[in-house]
Amino acid sequence: MSKLPNITTSIFSVMSQLANDYGAINLSQGFPNFPVDERLLQISERLLRENIHQYTPMAGLPLLMERIAALTAKNYQRNVNIATEMLITAGATQGVFTALNTFINQGDEVLILDPSYDSYEPSVLVAGGKPVRISLNEDYAPNFNKIEDAISAKTKMIVINNPHNPTGRIWTEEEFQTLEQILEKHPQVLILGDEVYEYISFSHPHISFNSRPKLIERTIVASSFGKSLHVTGWKVGYLIAPEKLMYEMKKVHQFLVFSVNSFSQHAIAEYLNVVDFSEVAKMYKRKRDLFQNLLKDSRFELMPCDGTYFQVVNYNQISTKNDVDFAKELITNHSVAAIPISVFYNDATDRNMLRFCFAKTDETLIAAAEKLKEV
Ligand code: PMP
Ligand code: GLN
Repeated sequence: MSKLPNITTSIFSVMSQLANDYGAINLSQGFPNFPVDERLLQISERLLRENIHQYTPMAGLPLLMERIAALTAKNYQRNVNIATEMLITAGATQGVFTALNTFINQGDEVLILDPSYDSYEPSVLVAGGKPVRISLNEDYAPNFNKIEDAISAKTKMIVINNPHNPTGRIWTEEEFQTLEQILEKHPQVLILGDEVYEYISFSHPHISFNSRPKLIERTIVASSFGKSLHVTGWKVGYLIAPEKLMYEMKKVHQFLVFSVNSFSQHAIAEYLNVVDFSEVAKMYKRKRDLFQNLLKDSRFELMPCDGTYFQVVNYNQISTKNDVDFAKELITNHSVAAIPISVFYNDATDRNMLRFCFAKTDETLIAAAEKLKEV
């Protein structure tokens, strides 16, 4: 019997494959098409010849963990004990899966805010839990009435992705305070904070769960270097959680992967000494502005984008097709691939939105915009 009877191939694979098949410009799956930083390449070339090719300690390479702890202290004023509160994972995907499969038992409910990243629901289902999908408001702000109504004695966890994929929205201070007030009444509810875009925020600063003393004791933060260092294929991420939660997650982790790719951990650890994440955010802000500017005379309506490297657009003025069909048409007739937003919902109301990834060279963005202006 299938554990995931209704799950099919991920939309990211489907759209990237279609883009390849039709030779379309691929603004669908979220990955950069520009080279990684020359400094990271130099570190990597040197490291390949060093004695770094065997297992790292199970929880991660200590130097990498120390550097992540230093960043967490500097950015979020949280002192993390790397021996008890941190785990290096094979990307955030494994971090999310590990967190959910450590704490979710048969019948436990997990609140997921739609549009939601596609790995949350299957990870809950494999654990035997029940995903409870709650739509965000029309402006993609959290709907706290719906969240409060959905919490019951069965609720074990809420998954919150901030900055948010696919919408690019970032939670405000007031929203964190409201969540804190609600959860005070429900001490059994854990939080899984997916912060893989923590270093890609533009309009206002990203607030991490790591900086919320009222929530830290019940929160698992998942992050990844794939997005912030332009190395999505390296699959190095991390979890931060209080010791009582981390202790349990390490037990699962050690039999899921035991330890993560040693080379990538060494290279990232060294690179963290020189990289400046504010430059990364600046670079993506410039790309967002460029892409928005290029599309301003098109018939696509641009939604706000406060962070991540995704731009959501509405195509009401262009077509009445549903977003999956329209995204396919965009590939076959106009040679640009995007992600339809409805696939991130259990029950989408907005079926006329697409997500474009702007983590691309300026040339690619310009070429894509030329085509999109013809639509
Ligand atoms: N969560 C979100 C919101 C994502 O966009 C992604 C893709 N980067 C992941 C998790 C998975 O991250 P990784 O590629 O590090 O597994
Ligand atoms: N996170 C990436 C996105 O949102 C895709 C990752 C994947 O392909 N699984 O596009």
